[in-house]
Amino acid sequence: MRKKFVAGNWKMHGSFQQNTALLENLKAHVSDVACEVAVCVPYPYLAQAQSMVEGSVIGLGAQNLSEHVSGAFTGEVSASMLKEFGCRYVLVGHSERRAQYGESDAVVAAKFAAAQAVGIVPVLCVGESLAERQSGLTAQVVSRQLSAVLDLLGVAALESSVVAYEPVWAIGTGMTATPGQAQEVHFAIRSQVAVQNAVIAGGLRILYGGSVKPQNAKELFAQADIDGGLIGGAALVADDFLAICRAAA
Ligand code: PEP
Repeated sequence: MRKKFVAGNWKMHGSFQQNTALLENLKAHVSDVACEVAVCVPYPYLAQAQSMVEGSVIGLGAQNLSEHVSGAFTGEVSASMLKEFGCRYVLVGHSERRAQYGESDAVVAAKFAAAQAVGIVPVLCVGESLAERQSGLTAQVVSRQLSAVLDLLGVAALESSVVAYEPVWAIGTGMTATPGQAQEVHFAIRSQVAVQNAVIAGGLRILYGGSVKPQNAKELFAQADIDGGLIGGAALVADDFLAICRAAA
């Protein structure tokens, strides 16, 4: 039985004051939530968030990392640095990084490997653009993004990872995929993994992301292959994020 998981992606939002208010609110109410919960915060706030979530059930995550171990990579942050700040998770291949920072499938797979090398769980984000969906390429694009990791690291690497299906056209747009559209892709992802290892596929948590709100979360999370959500905008509002967590439980 896969435990549901809801992770918040704060993106480039927050301040010491806002983070304190949000995390205090989450901590006060998260104990009545039965799913696993995490927040992926901007790098400068890792220390603040680490000290605030310590001793709570809220897991800490980052939104990106370098594919390199260390060295002359100005401005980059390594997996071992994230580990020192208590990160349990890190997003890899978010569509904003793929589209705006040119992260290729190969770079994303290398970041996935770098995270796992220090024991951080990578959350591999995959998803098609609107043009790709309209051209009937959804399955092909998602399969290619997943294959980059499978080909580099083998199916066993997925055992200690999470996949997030995030249709690019649904992120931050208010245009959520229907539960049926999302389930179809989640099933395809699990089936692709099952071809190589049915046990790993059965245990793999596949989150949906893209304009998840308290109003649509329950129906999405009720789908057979949707194991929770990766939440952007709604993760910045404590009541909304908690309501989404409750919908997953
Ligand atoms: C995201 O950034 O991963 C995301 C899903 O954003 P939103 O929930 O705002 O669409």
